[in-house]
Amino acid sequence: MKTYPLAKPYIDAEDKKGVLAVLNSGQLSLGPKYLRFEKDISVYTGAKYACAVANGTCGLHLAVRALGLQDGDEVITTPFSFVASTNCLLYEGCKPVFVDIESLTFNINPELIEKKITKNTKAILVVHVFGQPANMGEILKIAKKHKLLIIEDAAESFGAKYKGRYTGTIGEVGVYAFYPNKQMTTGEGGMIVTNSNKIYDLCKSMRNQGRNLNGDWLEHERLGYNYRMDEMSASLGVTQLQKTDWMNEKKREIVCWYEEELSGLKTVVIPRLDSGGASSLFVYVIRIIKGDRNKVVDVLARKGIQTKPYFPVIHLQPYMRKMFGYKLGDFPVAELVASQTLALPFYIGLSKQDIAYISREIRKALESS
Ligand SMILES: *Cc1c(COP(=O)(O)O)cnc(C)c1O
Repeated sequence: MKTYPLAKPYIDAEDKKGVLAVLNSGQLSLGPKYLRFEKDISVYTGAKYACAVANGTCGLHLAVRALGLQDGDEVITTPFSFVASTNCLLYEGCKPVFVDIESLTFNINPELIEKKITKNTKAILVVHVFGQPANMGEILKIAKKHKLLIIEDAAESFGAKYKGRYTGTIGEVGVYAFYPNKQMTTGEGGMIVTNSNKIYDLCKSMRNQGRNLNGDWLEHERLGYNYRMDEMSASLGVTQLQKTDWMNEKKREIVCWYEEELSGLKTVVIPRLDSGGASSLFVYVIRIIKGDRNKVVDVLARKGIQTKPYFPVIHLQPYMRKMFGYKLGDFPVAELVASQTLALPFYIGLSKQDIAYISREIRKALESS
């Protein structure tokens, strides 16, 4: 039986050749590749500065620190995301203040933000969920009015644009992630982008044990970390970036096939995407509005099709309930969406026939659930 995982990285001969060349060079860290990758990302996104890091989560951590956010500061963010977007605030003692989402885009609802602003609010941490840009126009207006900083968690939206600008480059600082299930991969890896020289210098120093950038190798100017990206990952980044637009095109083709197959179903809501091709999808997530989602997952699994409820909301995770006392009902739209969403197989290599098969099995599973 042919099996369909949820995600699979696309690795070609160029990627392999590059990584092998790094291995043969003997320079596995702090070599030329991470500098090249940073430069390429900066050129691609139009961000003035790019700082390569070991993964997206530590990139977010450095972004929070570089903005000077600290103990007691409140940061507005979304409960419908991967936990890393909230954890990076908790690392620094900041208080995540959740705002419910829009049910169509799954992103933070700008209309609900102002009610949550207090004298302690310092920033908004925006997540472009599943690769769909959040409503940055409204969010920028609110940030300006209340003098708030903006961090963009663009870990799921590399290559997506909001009104012509790449997500990640719109706020004070943005972070991309390159875990193997993302739009492009470096294995583990991430990138901080910013137009601020000050943020850039702080991130560069902190990722490298707090070293003084121009001084002695063993002079540590501030508390730092080892959040460096290795050269094999950076090499993969360079060659993956060269085909990232092509990979996104391929993914859009798969989206079209799913739309053709699933759009007639009354029990399913398919994602509504920006018509301008501005989104760059990270996962393909449908909503099952009638039927037993767990049963659908089980039935499909028996057919070799992997699917996954995605995401569970952050505020109801056990550690968040314990820390802040959140309960069911606190963010009803996010909770409803999270109870219905199902990620489907989505990777380069899926053919039109594969999507037809998967969709047929989804229809059958829905009928029996
Ligand atoms: C993947 C992801 C991250 C973290 O990236 P890693 O590289 O896995 O650390 C952060 N935020 C969101 C929304 C993500 O999906």
